[in-house]
Amino acid sequence: MLFLPKNKKNTYQMKTLNDFDFKNKKAIIRVDFNVPLDENFNVTDATRIEAAKPTIDAILAQGGSVILMSHLGRPKGAEEKYSLKHILKTASDILGVSVKFAENCVGEPAQTAAKDLKPGEVLLLENLRFHAEEEAGDVAFAKELASLGDIYVNDAFGTAHRAHASTTIIAQFFPTEKTFGTLLAKEIESLNKVLKNSEKPVTAVLGGSKVSSKITVIENILDKVDHMIIGGGMTFTFIKAQGGKIGESICEDDKQELALEILRLAKEKGVQVHIPVDVIAADDFSNTANTKVVDVTEIPDGWQGLDAGPKSLENFKKVILESKTILWNGPLGVFEMESFAKGTIALGDYIAEATEKGAFSLVGGGDSVAAVKQFGFEDKMSYVSTGGGAMLEMLEGKVLPGIAAILD
Ligand code: AMP
Repeated sequence: MLFLPKNKKNTYQMKTLNDFDFKNKKAIIRVDFNVPLDENFNVTDATRIEAAKPTIDAILAQGGSVILMSHLGRPKGAEEKYSLKHILKTASDILGVSVKFAENCVGEPAQTAAKDLKPGEVLLLENLRFHAEEEAGDVAFAKELASLGDIYVNDAFGTAHRAHASTTIIAQFFPTEKTFGTLLAKEIESLNKVLKNSEKPVTAVLGGSKVSSKITVIENILDKVDHMIIGGGMTFTFIKAQGGKIGESICEDDKQELALEILRLAKEKGVQVHIPVDVIAADDFSNTANTKVVDVTEIPDGWQGLDAGPKSLENFKKVILESKTILWNGPLGVFEMESFAKGTIALGDYIAEATEKGAFSLVGGGDSVAAVKQFGFEDKMSYVSTGGGAMLEMLEGKVLPGIAAILD
């Protein structure tokens, strides 16, 4: 498991920005500025740039300067359309400083721009992925990047599960002068609040489409939770494995044994598993299909379960409102279609209500963040993770290379 060395007070030690003096120092920060652009190269969603602002502001406020490095998209070599210069104006507006730009993240342009950087100034380097060495985790390339700054800060949670040059390899060139940024520290703290220092009862809601993509998460969290709500497409593998009739619902036949094993393990560990008892069934995978509420074990041939039914939602509500810690990963139904979004919206409402009553709620991994944003729950959860794949890997109990490299 990830988890950080304990100090004498039995809390978790983690170096943060406050442990460093940035005055007259150049901080080289790995940020995630992989933002969506429209056809005219305007930033259409600046959330990730805004998310990096607290770290940048804190360093500038101490009298330091900042060198930002990021990837954008999946370029094959130096492709103009993936240039980070497209985001310069948005970044300058958000940060309130005129951000300088180096047309290459290594070599002369980067070195000169970094050398000339003065306290209070911000420099953005060109797309790291213009060099294949970035994703290859090339040591010489990482060393070149490292030579630009005095202190390395990793604030890119979305890429913390990758052992790339700028996310992991670079850290070895900063034996002690390395730290998490505010955003990454918050991600780690939030996950620790759920899996480590959690207030009981702890409930995990796992939805989404397939057992196979969630199995490692399920296995890992069985040791940490009191209740596990299983919903979404995964439901039907569990129901069929227990002899239920699931009609045309999504099912992984080769995972039925595994589903029974999970139920057996949960029982052994004293985890209460809650699976839908009824579903909204449809006669087609379509928003305009005919629908009816049916018992989850009696889905007629030609029909498929696409959302949790009312009795299931009542059951889930009770569990959620009694929980003190809630983890939510994956929608309860095909939320992309309005006809099958009700379960996911209701679940969001229950978690919001529990959070308002004092529970800690973390939403993360995969599609749930999209659902939370789409239905306006973002501000009603205690924490919404910024990294889909990275959060999933943390929930699976893996040590993320980008995090390990800072703790090293
Ligand atoms: P994941 O990325 O594993 O969290 O899966 C999210 C996807 O699961 C969403 O695109 C949902 O549409 C899909 N999903 C949820 N419930 C069902 C269901 N009952 N049948 C088919 N797909 C589902």
